Amino acid sequence: MSRNIKLCHPRLQELADRLVRECAKQGLIVKIGESFRSSSEQDKLYAQGRTTSGNIVTNARGSSYSSMHQWGVAFDVIRNDGRGAYYDNDGWFSKVGAIGKRLGLEWGGDWTSPVDKPHFQLPDWGSTPARLKRLYGNVNNFKKTWEVDDMTESEVRKIAQKEANDMVYRYRDKVYNKISEVPEWGRPTIEKLMDIGALIGSDKGLEISETLLRVLVINDRAGVYK
Ligand SMILES: [Zn+2]
Repeated sequence: MSRNIKLCHPRLQELADRLVRECAKQGLIVKIGESFRSSSEQDKLYAQGRTTSGNIVTNARGSSYSSMHQWGVAFDVIRNDGRGAYYDNDGWFSKVGAIGKRLGLEWGGDWTSPVDKPHFQLPDWGSTPARLKRLYGNVNNFKKTWEVDDMTESEVRKIAQKEANDMVYRYRDKVYNKISEVPEWGRPTIEKLMDIGALIGSDKGLEISETLLRVLVINDRAGVYK
């Protein structure tokens, strides 16, 4: 078993802590299970359901570094309230998933093949390790980006906490893509900016965050866009 979360990215450690705490507040007793996985541990898991007994649980071979667990950016949770580690008839894992997402984690329950409800990961590099592989080649190079020798553990932790807070902020910042989505109080400003050609948007739409909308409206009321 590979259950040493301390081998993982510092921000993931911080978010794992938060997930356990936030879930506990809602009576969901979460334990962090699998986290960092070595190549040989991943190979063993890949064999399960293929050359050894059990169900297939992963599509990732160890040698190809294609599990996020091998990059130290993923962990799995287990249920720890005595009802069974994977007991889910009451939707327990979806409740935990929603809390994890609110904290800024990507949740494996949103995936389709396979659906992986106990799984959480940092969203920064996409859902698969393709980008990590391209950028760093292997996990040791990637680790250098978060293991900074001249920083104390508490300094690293402080940075990880700040990054985790920023992620929550980004997650909560609503984005409006259509004029019909913009709240009443912001609509005249957005219409005015579109009329004067100051606001074009992209193929996704307006892409105006709630924060930006507030700034634009304040500027408009101050007479900036005459
Ligand atoms: Zn996992």
